[in-house]
Amino acid sequence: MLILESSVSQLSPIAKKLTGQLKKLKVETVRDLVFHFPFRYDDFSKILTIVALQERMIATVKVKVDLIQTKRSFRRKLITEAIVSDETGSIKAVWFGQPYIGKILKVGDEIYLAGKVEDYYGLQFSSPNYEKVKGLATTHTARLVPVYSTTGNLTSKQIRYLVRLAFPLIKKLPEHLPWQIKRELGLIDLSKACQGIHFPQSQEELQKAQKRLKFDELFIVQLAVKFLKQNLAKLPAQPLPFQEEIIKNFVQGLPFKLTNDQRKAAWQILKDLARNRPTNRLLEGEVGSGKTVVAVMAMLNAVVCGGQAAFMAPTEILARQHYQSISKLLRRQKVKVGLLTRSQIFLAPEKLTKGEMLKKIAAGEVDIIIGTHALIAEKVHFKNLTLAIVDEQHRFGVNQRRLLREKSGVHNLMPHLLSMTATPIPRTLTLVFYGDLDISIIKELPKGRKKILTRVIQPTQRPKAYQFIKEQIRRGRQIFVICPLIDPSDKLGVKSVKEEYQRLKKDIFPDLQISYLHGRLKAQERERIMTDFLANKINILVSTSVVEVGIDVPNATVMMIEDAERFGLAQLHQFRGRVGRSKHQSYCFLFSQAESFQSILRLQALIKSEDGFSLAEKDLEFRGPGEIYGTRQSGMIDYFKIANLFDYQLINLAKEQVEKVLTQSPDIRRFPLLLEKVSTFQKAVHLE
Ligand code: ADP
Ligand code: MG
Repeated sequence: MLILESSVSQLSPIAKKLTGQLKKLKVETVRDLVFHFPFRYDDFSKILTIVALQERMIATVKVKVDLIQTKRSFRRKLITEAIVSDETGSIKAVWFGQPYIGKILKVGDEIYLAGKVEDYYGLQFSSPNYEKVKGLATTHTARLVPVYSTTGNLTSKQIRYLVRLAFPLIKKLPEHLPWQIKRELGLIDLSKACQGIHFPQSQEELQKAQKRLKFDELFIVQLAVKFLKQNLAKLPAQPLPFQEEIIKNFVQGLPFKLTNDQRKAAWQILKDLARNRPTNRLLEGEVGSGKTVVAVMAMLNAVVCGGQAAFMAPTEILARQHYQSISKLLRRQKVKVGLLTRSQIFLAPEKLTKGEMLKKIAAGEVDIIIGTHALIAEKVHFKNLTLAIVDEQHRFGVNQRRLLREKSGVHNLMPHLLSMTATPIPRTLTLVFYGDLDISIIKELPKGRKKILTRVIQPTQRPKAYQFIKEQIRRGRQIFVICPLIDPSDKLGVKSVKEEYQRLKKDIFPDLQISYLHGRLKAQERERIMTDFLANKINILVSTSVVEVGIDVPNATVMMIEDAERFGLAQLHQFRGRVGRSKHQSYCFLFSQAESFQSILRLQALIKSEDGFSLAEKDLEFRGPGEIYGTRQSGMIDYFKIANLFDYQLINLAKEQVEKVLTQSPDIRRFPLLLEKVSTFQKAVHLE
């Protein structure tokens, strides 16, 4: 028996042949097919007589086939031509390269033709949709016809055909939304909505279907996130009371004055830590805004309270950089700071083996452990871990959190967790993806930072830009060159790391040290290259976006970005943040082949603005949420098939209903189908 969970191949022999291509669209089960929504509709709902047709009209006619034949054109292409008529007249229809149509449609058949009317030595339909008149509902003509995203030579028509076959199951789709919500918001049933989204009877029905399905996505995501947060907040944590005197002393001893934003963020974090519930806060701040010192205040507080703290960085180099700067900040404190990565193990003043280090951590002889995410979460057992800080990883998964809890050494207590990121996340996204996660934001940059000069470079000015770079390197500076691709691609005409590296090395700067970096190199190889770059053994580093995340090379002063229009604004802003980290004036050069007004407008926004938040908002506007770093990796973005993350009104309505449901039934058990839906979602995006 066919059910929603059946493989889509079971729908029909045709479906079986198409399984491979459907799989590319992530359609494997009948349910996947049902939730593969159209991305637009052709409005063929107007049914006209032939006499009423005019050039450029989009319409359907109900006609009889008078003549049909397939022949070769003088360019040896196959053309199928038909003459069709109704009681008002006759018209020609032509199809190219689809000879089978000549076999499907026979003289005398009654059919619908739908498409655009063109004038080509007389009116005709070119490649119209066609469908035999059967007295049933139409699928491809005489209605709003759904158009789907496809792949390979899979057609929208085939998908429509398959969705029709799945219709009996769509009609039986169970409802998971509580009826109170539906009534309050005037939402239609899930089954009706799924019928209406594929084959709407009218624009009005389509809108109702869209509203219901959009609400569903926004509601389920927010419910899942909130639910999770609620469960997490129930766990006990060790309170770390504010050690006022020591923290104040520490701040006074700093070589600089904290900015107001740093002060405020630190205060919020320290207040969180004092509670007996696990802190779960995100600290957002532009590159160079000084997040590290805020994190250090929190760690110092934890250590003074008798616990250990872990600081997790995304790469080995960053771990080392943090180790150096954190040790420096804490040099006057009685705090033991250790570094632990795959290849670096250090506990000042000694170098020790990994085994020795692990033993010392387990014995509580290291207060602050700095390392890479995976290593610390998976391998280390602590004596008393009370605070974990995660740098630049947006979703520190619940599983990782659970691991930390198990290894924290503190029986049954959850360590406090502080995540940090330089990626500004628009408010709506945090609301949807993180529930109302606690967030602290550092907007203000420390005083005296030099502005990075950003320019769009015209193709004719390229030689001048290279001249400029040569001069910078002569003065001892270093250069980043970013390309969108790793390998050359003929199709896109877009710059690749490999090609650009060769070109710069051979043709432009034969006497300079040039190297390249991309995500397919082994981690160790990447680390080696970055280390060489840091040591100024490399003048120019050609790279893909892998340099995006927080690496600090103060001596680099020029960031050149090739085909800049291919990156999101927030991402370009991140690239730009790789330079301007020293007393030297720094530059960001944007190269672009784009001529479209929109692309130019986007790049202009980058020149004008240094505010990562507003740039991220612009990204959301120009390119959708997929561009916002971290949301794509989280898998959540894929879940949004129809909802619009700009739809503040619907987002807020969904949020309200989430609160209501959770008040009525904190564990959602009163709504079993909803609970099931939420757990499926959590599994799909690895939220559990
Ligand atoms: P990020 O937020 O990118 O992690 P860091 O914490 O690495 O930034 O800080 C960047 C640099 O700014 C460091 O060298 C740090 O010592 C310095 N810094 C931090 N806060 C201040 C401040 N209030 N005034 C001046 N310099 C500061
Ligand atoms: Mg940092």
